[in-house]
Formats: sequence, C-alpha cells, structure tokens
Amino acid sequence: MERKIDVTNPATGEIIDSVQMHSESEIRTAINKGANAFFNWSKTNAHKRAQLLKNWAQVVMNHKQELANLMTLENGKPLKESLGEVDYSVDYLEWYAEEAKRIYGRTIPANDGSKRIIVTKEPIGLVAAITPWNFPAAMMARKAAPALAAGCTFIVKPASETPLTGMKFIELAHEAGIPKDVIQYVNGKGSDIGSIFTESEAVRKITFTGSTAVGKSLIKNSANTVKHVTMELGGHAPLIVAKDADLDLAAKQAVASKFRNAGQTCVCANRIIVHEDVVNTFTEKFIQEVEKLKVGNGLDDGTDIGPIINKQGFEKITDQIKDAIEKGATAKIGNSFETNESEGYFFIQPTVLTEVTTDMTIMHEETFGPVAPILTFSTAEEAVELANSTPFGLAAYFFTSDYRLGTYLHDHLKFGIIGWNDGGPSAAHAPFGGMKESGLGREGGIEGIEPYLETKYMSIGGLSFNG
Ligand code: NAP
Repeated sequence: MERKIDVTNPATGEIIDSVQMHSESEIRTAINKGANAFFNWSKTNAHKRAQLLKNWAQVVMNHKQELANLMTLENGKPLKESLGEVDYSVDYLEWYAEEAKRIYGRTIPANDGSKRIIVTKEPIGLVAAITPWNFPAAMMARKAAPALAAGCTFIVKPASETPLTGMKFIELAHEAGIPKDVIQYVNGKGSDIGSIFTESEAVRKITFTGSTAVGKSLIKNSANTVKHVTMELGGHAPLIVAKDADLDLAAKQAVASKFRNAGQTCVCANRIIVHEDVVNTFTEKFIQEVEKLKVGNGLDDGTDIGPIINKQGFEKITDQIKDAIEKGATAKIGNSFETNESEGYFFIQPTVLTEVTTDMTIMHEETFGPVAPILTFSTAEEAVELANSTPFGLAAYFFTSDYRLGTYLHDHLKFGIIGWNDGGPSAAHAPFGGMKESGLGREGGIEGIEPYLETKYMSIGGLSFNG
C-alpha cells in the first residue's frame, strides 16, 4: 500500500499537498545509486563542480518567489522571512562553489632528504542528511553545498512537516545540471529512515540538524559503522544586556533575535539577562518593539509572526508560560492565543515575562516559541554563570559598549556563536555550530567543508638523485 505524508498549512490547517513516503527498498536503492555515483562525481574536477553549484544558485534565484511561497505555505513563516531564507540558502551554494576550488593539500618537510611527504584531501563518500522543518531550505543548503563541493554525493530526508521546499530545492539542482544520483531526497518517518541511513555501510557520513535527543541517537547508531557525524542540535541562547548598553539597539536586536520564525529558531534568544540598574528601562523599550509585531498568516502583508508549527509545539510553549506564571512570573504582554484544534492552527501573541527565576522550566528547556523571559544580574560573573548554566552551547548574545566587558564576556561564554551588539550573526561565510550538547562540527565558512573531506598522506622514499 502506498503511504503518504499530508503536508498542511500551519496557518489554516488545510492540506496543501500529499507526498509519497519512500519504502525501505526504495531508500536502499537510492543509497546504492548515491554510492555508485560517487566515483564519477568525486573525479569531476573542482572547477566543474563549482560551476554546477553556481548554476544551481542561479536556478534557485530564478524560482525565488515560488520557493518562498511554498516555504510560507508549509512552515508558516512570514513571506519576507522565506524570501530571506532563499537568499541565505543561495549564499551557501555560492560560498561553497568557490570553496570547491580551494581544497588544498600541503607538503611536509621530511626528516630524511630522500623522502617527500605530501598531504591530500579527498571526499569521504556518500553523505546522508536529515533536516528540520524550521529552515527547510537553508538547513539543507548548508549541508548539500559543501558536500557536493567536496566531491561527495548526497541524499537527504527533509522533515515530514515541510518536505515540499526541500524537494523543490533538489529538483532545481537537477535542473541546473547536477546529476540526479549525485543529489537525491527520500521522504518518510525520521526514525525509520534514520535507522536505514545509520545501518548502511555505503553511507560514510551523517549530517543532522534537529533536536538534541535525536542527534544523540544518531551519534550512537553511527558507531557500528564508524561514520563521520556533524550535529547541529538544540540551543538555549542567553542575551545579556549590560548597564552601559545602547538600550534602543539592544531592544531592537533582542526582538529580531527572539521572534524570528515565531521564536522557532535554534539560535533564538531564550533567556534575556539584564543588568538590574537598567532592567525597567530596557523592558519598557523591548515591550514597545514587541507591541509593533503583527501575528497572522505568513502570506498576508505586514505579518511578523506566523503560526506555531503544530499542536505539540504549541503545548510545549504554553506549558512553559503557565509554569513560569505559577512560579511567580508576570506576563507584561501576550499570553494570549488564537487556536482552532479541529482545524489545526495555533497562534501565540508574542509574550514577555518578567520576574523570572532560575527554577522555571523556561530557563532550562528550549522554548521554540515567541516568549521572552527577562531576569536580572548584578555582576559580570553572575551574568556569565547564569548564561553558561545550560547543557546547550549554540549561540549567545551580549550588548555593551565597554570593550573590556565585551572581551570578558566573549572569553567566558561557552557558546559556539557570539553576537556582540548583534542579534543576527548567522552568515554562510562564518562557522555556525555549537559547543556542549548543541552539536559537533561546524557548517559555513572555511570550516564547513572540512567535515566532508578525508586527509591522506603519502611518504615518497628513495628520492636521492645523484645526477
Ligand atoms: P527533530 O524532531 O529532531 O526532527 C528533525 C529531523 O529529524 C526531522 O527530519 C525528523 O523527521 C527527523 N527525525 C525525527 N526522529 C528521528 C529519529 N529517531 N532518527 C532520525 N531522524 C529523526 O527536531 P525538530 O523539532 O524538527 O527541529 C527543531 C530542533 O532542531 C530544535 O531543537 C532546534 O534547536 C534544532 N535546530 C538546530 C539547528 C542548528 O543549527 N543547531 C538549526 C535548526 C534547528 P520527521 O519530521 O519525519 O519526524
């Protein structure tokens, strides 16, 4: 029996499409095709691979509006954010098209004049990717682009909530001239496909973006075949506002960081930690900015915050708000919802919580929703301790004009991404990724291609030449 995934619009609950779930044998066939295509692709010269990636970038740009509409329909994010995500995805294609040409080796001075040691890099083989629903194009682009640039073949399982954007993105790669078996997608339940990927000896690397719990199981299951892994997992970003900070800038950037994609972003500020001397002024300015945000269907003009992806996400967020209020927090704005469970849509008004304390669930669990908890600190040491008191280490932000405090915070925060007076530090040319339970490896920048390469050295002996 053919099995299908119904893809719904989270803003209305309507089914927008149904996609076929691939059977186990179809997934194994796709893996075999990817493994067989590896030899030719890895031998395709780097300049040709670069050109094909550039072609892909161009074709994606030609379909920018169509892709963005699709993304908003299945994910719910405002159209302006979807358009921005297409640009951001193309940045990865373009960056790694260039990096394909810069996969350098080196020679090492030998301790014996008759020898020469040469180091080369080569692609690791077939890469399997699993991607989340919150950035359906970008999370795929930043895996596929370096993999293909390195000379690896690639197979991806997009999130079941948002398969359409990813499928289209890959069809556009084929339209751009990249051979069909070099980049493929398969659809189905994450746990089923994850097991097939991890058990397969033909898959040499798993690259995953998603929750920490699933990431841990993929790391464990990759051990049997000793696969390479790259893991981009959950976050719980602190955003520190010092007493000397430009509070207008801090308030605007905190809103941008917190409420992008309705707060369903791994690098979203999840804890706003403000110096006690400026907390009242900052909170006032922050709320003035939050009041401007319009909640609605992402396709409507002027929408800033779309729906929550599903009921499970909605319940997690509202449970955190309830828990915080029961433990003494105050909702200064928000804490109101527009939902229709039978239709299947869930909207949350942006919510700001004050009088937040460390015993509240929101201080420990990723929220993935438009809720901003504010708490206070008095010394830099206390701010650092609060910020670091999490198993996550993805992104952290701080606002200060004092270069000594800024340097101190940079040096003591245990996070892979730091925004200093910047609520949006992500860029294709910078190494994105987390410390601690937020992940392994980096995506983006010159670091982002390394995980797709093996290092090989050759020692040539007997080179003495007597003329
Ligand atoms: P998720 O439940 O872990 O799902 C992510 C992907 O994993 C989906 O494709 C899902 O497939 C698949 N999956 C689910 N269970 C699996 C299993 N047992 N084995 C293999 N694959 C499995 O996470 P999510 O709720 O979609 O995404 C949100 C999470 O991603 C958050 O924690 C967020 O912080 C994190 N994230 C991290 C980054 C980063 O760069 N660090 C970026 C974006 C998001 P199905 O859809 O079929 O279940």
